[in-house]
Amino acid sequence: MFATKSLLAVLSLCLAFLGVAASPATSSLERRARAQVFSRCTKPNTVALTFDDGPYIYMNDIVNALDAAGAKGTFFFNGNNYDCIYNTNAVNRVKYAYSHGHQVASHTWAHKDLTTLTWDQIHDEMWRVEQALVRITGAYPAFMRPPYGNYNNLVLDASGIRGQSVIIWDFDSQDSLGASPQTSKNLYDGVIGRHPSTILTLNHETIGSFALHQVLPYAIQKLKAAGYQLVTLAECLGMPAYQSVVAPGTRDSNWHC
Ligand SMILES: [Zn+2]
Repeated sequence: MFATKSLLAVLSLCLAFLGVAASPATSSLERRARAQVFSRCTKPNTVALTFDDGPYIYMNDIVNALDAAGAKGTFFFNGNNYDCIYNTNAVNRVKYAYSHGHQVASHTWAHKDLTTLTWDQIHDEMWRVEQALVRITGAYPAFMRPPYGNYNNLVLDASGIRGQSVIIWDFDSQDSLGASPQTSKNLYDGVIGRHPSTILTLNHETIGSFALHQVLPYAIQKLKAAGYQLVTLAECLGMPAYQSVVAPGTRDSNWHC
């Protein structure tokens, strides 16, 4: 009995190290369904710059800054947060990022803390933004970042059933925590100075253009000078960005928040 418990403990530790939540009580079916969680990239020498909470008014500037540097970014979109994703400007912004080769992904519909919701409510938050992204781009995202980085086993099971991996981060520019542009720059300098093999960043589309205009070009230039490849999240993990890609839809009366 003791040996069995020890084995289970070791197994749990190994799974925890791999970022897999495991409980001996769950069935194998549940374990297969449960989403994988990634907090870091796996392909050496890559950086994934990710931007949450849009589409919003600074998005095209972010895309332009990435494009100018030959870099790729990943956008975790909400459906109804700072803007409604179906508003004409928001639709155009999503199309702009996608058509320029940047990755689009789910940050769920209304930026709720998923750990406070029921099973049905979690799925509702997930599918509504997935549907919007398929309508607008034709791409069904393979990645989801839970608002606030908060998840529990219910969220992981729901994501797994929906074919998605859950993405956290290993570097926070702290823009959403009120960091000044200089503080964010210092944070980027700090992580670049430590030179980890990979970096998975957290930034926000919605924090003032002043900060973005200053911090993003600075970070891009410094990361490139340090020899990193600035790639999409999918590329830094060596996984497909989308579960399927079809022709985008055309606006109809269902395109509303
Ligand atoms: Zn967010």
